[in-house]
Amino acid sequence: MRIILFGAPGSGKGTQGDILGKRTGFPRISTGDLLRLAVRERTPLGLRAEAAMAEGRLVSDEIVEGLVRDRIAAADCRAGYILDGFPRTVVQAEALAAMDGARPEIVIGIEVDPEVLVERLSGRRVCPSCQAVYNLSAQPPARPGVCDGCGAALVQRPDDAAEVVRTRIAVYLRETAPLKDYYRRKSVYRPVDARGTIDEIARAIALVLDPKTAGRTPA
Ligand code: ADP
Ligand code: ZN
Repeated sequence: MRIILFGAPGSGKGTQGDILGKRTGFPRISTGDLLRLAVRERTPLGLRAEAAMAEGRLVSDEIVEGLVRDRIAAADCRAGYILDGFPRTVVQAEALAAMDGARPEIVIGIEVDPEVLVERLSGRRVCPSCQAVYNLSAQPPARPGVCDGCGAALVQRPDDAAEVVRTRIAVYLRETAPLKDYYRRKSVYRPVDARGTIDEIARAIALVLDPKTAGRTPA
């Protein structure tokens, strides 16, 4: 079983992916997180990806496909996995089908009004130490500016700056949104309305992925 979380930047894919990972026991694979780690560690791959990420553009298909190919080969992905942020282009979707095509898949489309995206992304704060994610309106830390988990000072992701957010949304509409039709044609697309609280959306996703069948082939 493979669950693909699909949605615009700011749709809440990462938050929902975490919740879903805990519920299903499947690892959540975020290409954004893998790339940010590579950038922090200054690996050759990270150095190649850094500029595109800072500007809100896509990293090359070849780089992200390599990351995903290596990650899904790990033993903890054997029963299933959750993809967050991949595929982001039709080319990547075809590469994924070629890597692991026999595995049944379901695409959860987190559908959100584009108007709220800029606000959500510019309100996001992250912990540079333990990578916890907060939102000034939806999920604020108990003490302003301080990570609940580890006490570090929260920061804003560089690509959450307002100008970069606009590029990311434009890239999403041009490159990634067409994937919705691609997965609809494969009859694996399941829309979920992203209005509501984090818990309400998690429940809507759980309903789509009936818990009794979440680890098996969808009907
Ligand atoms: P968001 O979904 O909020 O935009 P992510 O953390 O998923 O953020 O991704 C951050 C950045 O990492 C993207 O703007 C892009 O530069 C790069 N990236 C992540 N996944 C991919 C991908 N599948 N293909 C190309 N670039 C990617
Ligand atoms: Zn922390």
